Amino acid sequence: MIAGLDVGGSKTLGVVLDPGGAVRATVRVPTAGDGGDALLASTVRALADLATAVGLAPSELEAVGIGIPGVVNTDDGTVRHAVNLGVNGDPLALAAHLTETAGVSAVVENDVNAATAGAAAMLGDVTDLALLSIGTGVAAGLVLGGTLRRGHRGAAGEIGHVSLDPAGPPCVCGQRGCLEAVVSGPAIARRWPVDGATGAATALVAAAERSDPRAVQVLDEVAGYLAAAVVLLALTVDPDVILLGGGVAEAGSPLLAAVRSALGRRVGPVPLLGPLDLPRRVRLVPDTVPVGAVGAARLARERLSHATA
Ligand SMILES: [Zn+2]
Repeated sequence: MIAGLDVGGSKTLGVVLDPGGAVRATVRVPTAGDGGDALLASTVRALADLATAVGLAPSELEAVGIGIPGVVNTDDGTVRHAVNLGVNGDPLALAAHLTETAGVSAVVENDVNAATAGAAAMLGDVTDLALLSIGTGVAAGLVLGGTLRRGHRGAAGEIGHVSLDPAGPPCVCGQRGCLEAVVSGPAIARRWPVDGATGAATALVAAAERSDPRAVQVLDEVAGYLAAAVVLLALTVDPDVILLGGGVAEAGSPLLAAVRSALGRRVGPVPLLGPLDLPRRVRLVPDTVPVGAVGAARLARERLSHATA
């Protein structure tokens, strides 16, 4: 049995996979996002809950894989920056801490990469896949030739900071009009403020479905920028499938329909792009399993099998 954790800004989702890769247990615990020590404690707690759910001690698990939104050193399992979790100083030795306190081997991965590996496993017959994760941050994960592609400096797929509109809103990175500055959850919430639990993107598509003219306009713009990101990914690595994931994609099929329609308008008339059939190749990330946690577990299993081979 191997565990996977997907550490998000507010919640941590966990799974246990059996040797055949089937999900045997899932847990969901709040993430303590106020600094390194709190984060370590909530991660240890999630792991303990998972082990209990399958009647094991944490040390009896084969390993644990952890996906975390931040800059990760996959070699030593440290997290350098995870700003939304209050980690932004000395590297946090997440893998070493879990091994020390829970007696289990741990592998740490960037959360978008983990989700991409999980989605690729779910889709099965796809060897080249891009997952455009649209949440607080925006980035793409890439599985190419069946292998997760991190890049030379770990920056493969960091297209959230490609500037699409030099006159657009300022981005946290210092540029203007980055993809992240126009389609992230906070960017949508600035244009479509909501109170309470419903995400801004979900509220926006609901208002657009009621034909609220301003919502229709904002959704068209967001979908247009997402269509531009899909074209960018298609023309860079031409994956079989481009998945939309992350918190914004929880707005679901109305958002997908808007992106497909924006793609049709954008690329349909272009002889180079029309035949690429992009509207059909864009899909929502599978929601039958938590792909981030599943991917983290599978990457940990892969790493261990290489280490012992
Ligand atoms: Zn930026």
